[in-house]
Amino acid sequence: MLTKTYYDELVEKLVAWNKAYYEDDRPLVDDALYDAQMKELEEIERKHPEYIRKDSPTQYAGVEEVSTKFSKVNHSLPMISLANAFGESEILEWETRINRILGEETLREYVFELKIDGLSIAIDYNNGKLIKAATRGNGKEGEDVTENVRTINTLPKEISYKKPISIRGEVFINKSDFEKINKEQEASGRTLYANPRNTAAGSLRQLDASVTATRKLDAFFYSLFPFNALDSDVKNEDYKYSTHYESLKLLDDYGFKTNKANNIICKNISEVIELYKKYEELRNSFDYDIDGAVVKINQLDLQKTLGSTSKSPRWAIALKFSAEIVETQIESVSMELGRLGTITPTANLTAVKLAGSTVRRATLHNFDQIDRLGVRIGDWVKVRKAGEIIPEIVEVNLDKRSSTKTQEIEIPKTCPVCGSPVEKSDVSYRCTNIATCAAQVQRRIEHWCSKGAMDISGVGPALVATLLEEKLISYPLDLYKLKKEQIINLERMAEKSSQNAISSIDESRTRTFSKLLFAFGIKHVGANVAESIASFYPDLSILEHEVLEEFEGAKLHSIDGLGPKITQSLLDFFQSDLYDKFAKDLKENPDLLKIKPIEVKQLGDKFQGMTFVITGTLSQSRSHYEALIKENGGKVSSSVSKKTNYLLSGEDAGSKLGKAQEFGVKIIDEQEFMVLIHR
Ligand code: NAD
Repeated sequence: MLTKTYYDELVEKLVAWNKAYYEDDRPLVDDALYDAQMKELEEIERKHPEYIRKDSPTQYAGVEEVSTKFSKVNHSLPMISLANAFGESEILEWETRINRILGEETLREYVFELKIDGLSIAIDYNNGKLIKAATRGNGKEGEDVTENVRTINTLPKEISYKKPISIRGEVFINKSDFEKINKEQEASGRTLYANPRNTAAGSLRQLDASVTATRKLDAFFYSLFPFNALDSDVKNEDYKYSTHYESLKLLDDYGFKTNKANNIICKNISEVIELYKKYEELRNSFDYDIDGAVVKINQLDLQKTLGSTSKSPRWAIALKFSAEIVETQIESVSMELGRLGTITPTANLTAVKLAGSTVRRATLHNFDQIDRLGVRIGDWVKVRKAGEIIPEIVEVNLDKRSSTKTQEIEIPKTCPVCGSPVEKSDVSYRCTNIATCAAQVQRRIEHWCSKGAMDISGVGPALVATLLEEKLISYPLDLYKLKKEQIINLERMAEKSSQNAISSIDESRTRTFSKLLFAFGIKHVGANVAESIASFYPDLSILEHEVLEEFEGAKLHSIDGLGPKITQSLLDFFQSDLYDKFAKDLKENPDLLKIKPIEVKQLGDKFQGMTFVITGTLSQSRSHYEALIKENGGKVSSSVSKKTNYLLSGEDAGSKLGKAQEFGVKIIDEQEFMVLIHR
């Protein structure tokens, strides 16, 4: 990833995106993709300063060469950019950077402002008259758009202050006006604008100012620089202000439109974060687009102490809102294997910012989904976060297909990990080598260690991989045979981490039966199903006996309370080589696991000496009735015999009902059970 060729390609890609965005006012990609790629470029340059090219977009603001569409203007003060922060943790990192210079104890205020998604403008006044307006260009020189800026109605063309002054602000277009303009573009057969920001930029950069005049541009202003104050800065006698907030007030007094209602002083960073969250929720409620907030240190003397880098001031930061759905490109597709051998096609994406984090991979679920989406390698796709964690692809941008080289995603004929044949199962393909496929073995052990299962916190996926690589384990029970000396010398392991691993393995020996059942990773037996099975069949041998007993020839009944799918899965599991190995191992080494039986406190002796069997679907869980029976001194058995006193039978009772009738066991329903208990 970090080769010079990769770097060069990244620079060229970003330069092209910048040109499309800043010069043509027609972005080629989403801001979220641009931001993530810029971050990647910055990281490469930090690690490899020798790569840095003069034309790298990190070296200037906007575009390197200002377009010749308009005459060029030198900025009296450079128009630098702003550093970005995404989410709360990056805001706190900015505060830490500030503290390093100012010291933690230095009292300061922050001014919270909305980050208007438009284009920045610098306007100079002299003798109270507007004399020049320029776009940012490359930060040092911009384009002369004076005539176009004059068409902005809310902008004062004359002000009371007579000395030279330069103001900075953001030109934008209201969302409602944007809709109207695009309708007109459509009616006259012209290309539509992508969003209000590009419409505002396109409108301001019209060669004919009379066209700009029809576009109803507007602007908010956020800073002013008195020329004669530059050297002596804030102490200039004309400007008796010492905070940024006061300068906003002055702008307002001169008749410039400031975003008064949303410029807010914060006493500390927590207040900033609170506002950031609040405005992220409110972001769509304004008639203009905002893409975040800008936070600035209020005291000008502190701003001065903090100073600027070549590209952005240290005393201000743009807090960007996160996109919930973004467009990016599929670079390749890899086939990921799950613990049951299911092959999940996974797209490797050009890194993009999504819902607060950088995303590089997204699931394509299965080949039916690939068909449904019609997606190919190389396609531009919309990605969103599904249920918090795993991003998924929701749509292909077919408009970009013609300009992209794409390739079909092929169904693997053999397992990409072990080369064994694959078979179709429901909508997915699976590797058939359940016992020894390296990926399946690894996923199974990872699952065994996971939180809901045996919860072995000291053994994460990386350690599982190393233990397998070093052939120290080959299946879950091997974990319980490990010695600390074997772990301590492994890569990235030390005294503390190995002790952690060993202690958490030890602790997990006594998990409950339901955790163990879930840890096996049996198809259809999730944590909840495992819990309800365990509440009825309290240990492995009882469950095994019950499942195998119900298996008559090729015909399998569902065991009580469990559907045929789960019963079949359990049967497959108990008949598998894997279980065989596990059972033999445990027989030879009974101390490896000391699974805890479910403990119920006895409260009375109403059912002393009585045995109950429960069958069918009840209005309450089986564990509920089981607990009631045990609390009252009774026993619950999984099979009916002559010694059974009562069969508590619900709807759709299974084979136990027949047996109970055969043995003359008293059959009761839930109501009768409740009568018994309250007698
Ligand atoms: P920026 O947008 O991250 O922040 C700086 C700008 O914020 C300032 O120049 C100013 O114009 C504006 N701003 C708005 N409200 C402000 C306020 N209250 N106070 C101060 N400034 C305020 O930086 P940038 O360099 O202008 O642009 C880079 C951004 O533009 C990227 O992060 C990306 O989102 C977007 N971009 C997108 C593409 C694309 O292809 N999609 C290409 C280039 C840039």
